[in-house]
Amino acid sequence: PVRLRVAPSPTGDPHVGTAYMSMFDLAFARQQGGQFVLRIEDTDRARYQADSEQQIFDTLHWLGLGWDEGPDIGGPYAPYRQSERLDTYRPYVERLLAEGKAYHCWCTGERLKEMRERQQALKQPTGYDRMCLGKTAEERAQLPGYSETPVVRMLIPDDAPTTFTDLIRGEVSAPRPDDQVILKADGFPTYHLAVVVDDHEMGITHVVRGEEWISSTPKHVLLYQWLGLPEPAFAHMPLLRDEKKAKISKRKSPWARLTWFREQGYLPEALLNFLALLGYPPVIERGEDGQQVEREVFDFAEFTERFDWAKVNTVGPIFNLEKLNWLNGHYIRELEVGELASRLLPFLQDAGVLGPQPTLPELGRLRAVTELVQTRIVTLTEAVPLIAPFYTGDADLEIAEDARGQLKDTAEQVLTAALAVLDPIDGTAGTPLGEGVEWTTERIETALREALVDGLGIKPRLAFGPLRTAVSGARVSPPLFESMEILGKASTMARLTRLRD
Ligand code: ATP
Ligand code: GLU
Repeated sequence: PVRLRVAPSPTGDPHVGTAYMSMFDLAFARQQGGQFVLRIEDTDRARYQADSEQQIFDTLHWLGLGWDEGPDIGGPYAPYRQSERLDTYRPYVERLLAEGKAYHCWCTGERLKEMRERQQALKQPTGYDRMCLGKTAEERAQLPGYSETPVVRMLIPDDAPTTFTDLIRGEVSAPRPDDQVILKADGFPTYHLAVVVDDHEMGITHVVRGEEWISSTPKHVLLYQWLGLPEPAFAHMPLLRDEKKAKISKRKSPWARLTWFREQGYLPEALLNFLALLGYPPVIERGEDGQQVEREVFDFAEFTERFDWAKVNTVGPIFNLEKLNWLNGHYIRELEVGELASRLLPFLQDAGVLGPQPTLPELGRLRAVTELVQTRIVTLTEAVPLIAPFYTGDADLEIAEDARGQLKDTAEQVLTAALAVLDPIDGTAGTPLGEGVEWTTERIETALREALVDGLGIKPRLAFGPLRTAVSGARVSPPLFESMEILGKASTMARLTRLRD
């Protein structure tokens, strides 16, 4: 069976690329009935950040990209954190040293820097000059730039492999590697050794990663050959790019951070669909007229079913937020109202609109308001200002400047007339049979239209604008009459009165 892994480094907020790789890993693993493994590559102690690992777990879970083995759930090849596997790497290093395929290097960082500067000034190829090769510690200590704690380097032969086969790209060639460090002075392996050892030890059959690793793959191939290990298949995914074709990075773009999407109120299903489209073509179907049409909306199950490495893009896709927004709006409209309400709840709680333990009437109201906003939002966060007025005390409702600025001379007349015509309506909620005089959308709308538009002859925009301002405090709000029904008579009257006075 196939085994794939994603191997993020806990060096800060998880990168959106981690989700992108995981999605392709998981689709192929599921399609083939294999496993998907999460491995934490925390050998870079300088860039290590303690809370990053939990963020990786949380964001991948949020996306529904669960793993079969990993540091949190264990598995047959535990531990899944490289910092806990140092004993695993040591014998590999010793074997390479004993066989003369690797050597100790005592050069200080300063000496390496000088060496590079000299090479650059002379326009020589850069790379380690092998000053330490063949020397004992005592011999090397006589020369400048000596450090007590050595690193271990690969002794790259002149005929080292520089090509490999890629599942997406076919035959790929990369520059000849440098004498790569494989064991650092702190006793930790570098990525290159650890990735080869772990992929082998964990039985990984397909290595899927970003195309920036193409230049490293020949070193890994050489290590597999030296150690007599079978090579996995390689797939180098195209890197996500911005509008200027530069690779998106966390330093430049907030949306390179996976947590950003959750904070902004994107739905995980929309983000997955979007990420799939970045690396993979849409579904081609026959339309009603027999013509071929592209369908861009598909879920993870469908993606898994039709996944094929040969169809993955090789050209870096442009990260187009407009497409994501479009997909997100689509998925929001497809949600059942109660489900959308429950997804909105944490955003409302974070904003302080609702408390940690909302009451049943508050939740009932949320469902009703959610129905009003469902078609009007692109992200979940956009719902917060639309919903907040429904949970604000009448006297506390803030009237936004731009909403107040819209009020015309007729506003006072409109508010007075509206209050007069709404007053006789029974404020208790309507019965299902529509009996009695009741506070319902239809009843409110009819009364207001008759009084303001027909009676006073005021244009609908001028007639209803002040009411909207009074009720929501904002220029843009959910539909007015429905909002009044949900707010109830007492609140509506209080808000209209407050704005008039
Ligand atoms: P920084 O801005 O801190 O340099 P970065 O955004 O370039 O960070 P890295 O920390 O270098 O990201 O990479 C983290 C992971 O994200 C790696 O696995 C890398 O393959 C992946 N990655 C980085 N950039 C992209 C990209 N543009 N598209 C897809 N994956 C990416
Ligand atoms: N730790 C590496 C990264 O974060 C893994 C690369 C790989 O998948 O081999 O990019």
